[in-house]
Amino acid sequence: MRTSVIGFPRIGKDRELKFAIEKYFTGKINEVELLESGRMQREYNLKTQKAYGIDLISCNDFSFYDNILDTAFLFNAIPQRYKNLKLSVLDTYFAAARGYQGVNGNVKALAMKKWFNTNYHYIVPEIEDDTVISLAGTKPIDELKEAKTLGINAKVDIIGPFTFLKLARFTGSKKASDFAPALTDAYIKLIEKLQLENADWIQFDEPYIVRDLNGSDITLFEEIYKKILSSKGNVKILLQTYFGDVRDIYNNITALDFDAIGIDFVEGRKSLDLVKTNGFPKSKTLIAGVVNGKNIWRNNYAKTQGILNELNGIVSAEKLVIGTSCSLLHVPYTLENESKLPDSYRVHFAFAEEKLSELIEIATGKEDAFIKNAKLFESRPDVLDKEVKERVSSIKEEDYTRLPRFEERERIQKERLRLPLFPTTTIGSFPQTDDVRKNRKDFKNGTITEEQYIEFNKNKIRECIKLQEDIGLDVIVHGEFERNDMVEYFGEHLAGYVFTEKAWVLSYGTRCVKPPIIWGDVSRKEPITVKWSVFAQSCTDKPVKGMLTGPVTILNWSFPREDITLQESTLQIALAIRDEVLDLEKNGIGLIQIDEAALREKLPLRKSDWYSEYLDWAIPAFRLVHSGVSSETQIHTHMCYSEFTDIIPAIDSMDADVITFEASRSDLLILDALKKNNFKTEVGPGVYDIHSPRVPSVEEIVSALTKIRAKVEDSKLWVNPDCGLKTRGVSETDASLRNLVAAAKIIRNT
Ligand code: GLN
Ligand code: ZN
Repeated sequence: MRTSVIGFPRIGKDRELKFAIEKYFTGKINEVELLESGRMQREYNLKTQKAYGIDLISCNDFSFYDNILDTAFLFNAIPQRYKNLKLSVLDTYFAAARGYQGVNGNVKALAMKKWFNTNYHYIVPEIEDDTVISLAGTKPIDELKEAKTLGINAKVDIIGPFTFLKLARFTGSKKASDFAPALTDAYIKLIEKLQLENADWIQFDEPYIVRDLNGSDITLFEEIYKKILSSKGNVKILLQTYFGDVRDIYNNITALDFDAIGIDFVEGRKSLDLVKTNGFPKSKTLIAGVVNGKNIWRNNYAKTQGILNELNGIVSAEKLVIGTSCSLLHVPYTLENESKLPDSYRVHFAFAEEKLSELIEIATGKEDAFIKNAKLFESRPDVLDKEVKERVSSIKEEDYTRLPRFEERERIQKERLRLPLFPTTTIGSFPQTDDVRKNRKDFKNGTITEEQYIEFNKNKIRECIKLQEDIGLDVIVHGEFERNDMVEYFGEHLAGYVFTEKAWVLSYGTRCVKPPIIWGDVSRKEPITVKWSVFAQSCTDKPVKGMLTGPVTILNWSFPREDITLQESTLQIALAIRDEVLDLEKNGIGLIQIDEAALREKLPLRKSDWYSEYLDWAIPAFRLVHSGVSSETQIHTHMCYSEFTDIIPAIDSMDADVITFEASRSDLLILDALKKNNFKTEVGPGVYDIHSPRVPSVEEIVSALTKIRAKVEDSKLWVNPDCGLKTRGVSETDASLRNLVAAAKIIRNT
């Protein structure tokens, strides 16, 4: 069997490309040096995949920032405001990606959005009514030529026109279908040029077709591809899908003249059924995505073989290719980087490079490899914890419900807390200054004692509380100086987690994250945050809000287990965090915030799956965390995006007492939706954007609050920034919060 890889990580085995791009941003290297760094990275990727023996290797999966933005630039979908800057093409590109402030002007970046159900973020192309779509760049052609000089006739990976149009934002009155003809022509031009370079395969990435599609979507898709495929000449065209199954469009795509179709058999729940029920055209190649591109566990060869056996007979041996389920962009480079991971653990993981060897082993079907692989699934060390299992199975229905009901609690809490109207607070973290990071690092490296570490943090907390009192905030936080990251910190304090050293995964641009791995049954061995919160409360008479991360977010920002369900893992984490909530309460903390920043992250791509596959267990898991507290304890939650207009009833049924969320950048549409849905939870829509260093003026905050008051009852409205302050500087934080408190005081009197 032949093998295919959809795409490879690009940031560098040691994040070389990240550092090169960042050096370019700060002027430490020039364009020529940056381009060379990119070239070296591409060469490494191509050679690595070739060395393992992969047959279909992608080029043009590389990017200096984002592939969707590359596609926009390739087809001249560049908003005029960036062109007006009159910068070089590369700098115009970076201006669109990150914003630009300098001698040539001042423009904000294009919006960024989550790439389907991953933690990668793409840049949203903006298409203006007068945008003239045309083939304006040569990136895919250049990268093909470059691959050829290395002796690899790579398949050219390109974001497909349908997905591109569906993800773009149209700023004027024209729609996707208005631009489809010009875009189709531009793709055809590109194909012609690639043909001149003797391209063998072109891979059109169309992940959008795993979502719910309506009739006009399908028509648009067919119109575009009929034209493209009729002028493909002798280049072979692969339609590549991933992140799910193509149930709405399977028969349409198999009827089109594609040479190959790539289907995801890992996340695509119905993929196998679709092929079995509808068959697969004899003339086409099927690329079966069987090696998970999103998780880090070893492939189960026997299981994979089972899928391939079922395909056998429907697809002939020479037309069946095995591949990754999606681009390997979403997993780290290689286990070679992990020097501290014990072998007994290591053998169970496969990062990008190890997945290449899995593909080869499966394709060649070597018996000893299969035997060795089967042994891995007999057992893993330290996974099972009987107590945890029993605790989860003895959860009762009533454990998911907090009593008394919200309305009753709201009354009790108002009486107890006696907060002013429009109470002011923050989301939790305060600026993570160099000394704060150094303190954690020194403690980790053993250069300071635990006592010194704690002493430093206590001083920071004391200072932070004094500052908040001085500013006049009503609900105080301790500042989160002990945390590197809101998920990693809890992972480190929970049993059942494994950590890596360099297992970085790209999140956006040059930013990488290092998700911890849920290895086994999760439990809390001892209190985690209690000492910090209790100390903080001892420094002030004002109420201190305890600060935790919720189970769904912890799960969504970790690599999850595959041997138990996400639901079961989440419940285990929920019980651990529940213990922490109850300990905080027992120790006198009367307000507890449980952050669910990433709640939306794993919302299924298909609406019909939202509840049954996800929300039906994720929301109760959150309730399980706080259902044990008394009516007097006020539970807060925080979500990073206000993109929950469509799941408002689910958010309300988290049954928190207060929710804070980002709203300052959105158009306050969410507030209309809250009103329409009779949202009961008290709300703190962020009144300014913490992602920018700009200090909002008092008038600006007053005006935001005035707009919000038109939609939210006064008695339910909180005043706060839109997210944690850890990435902000000290002085802008001070100034912004003072303005926030001043604004709250003004509206209390109007
Ligand atoms: N409590 C966290 C903080 O303030 C929340 C961070 C987040 O929502 N991403 O940093
Ligand atoms: Zn946030």
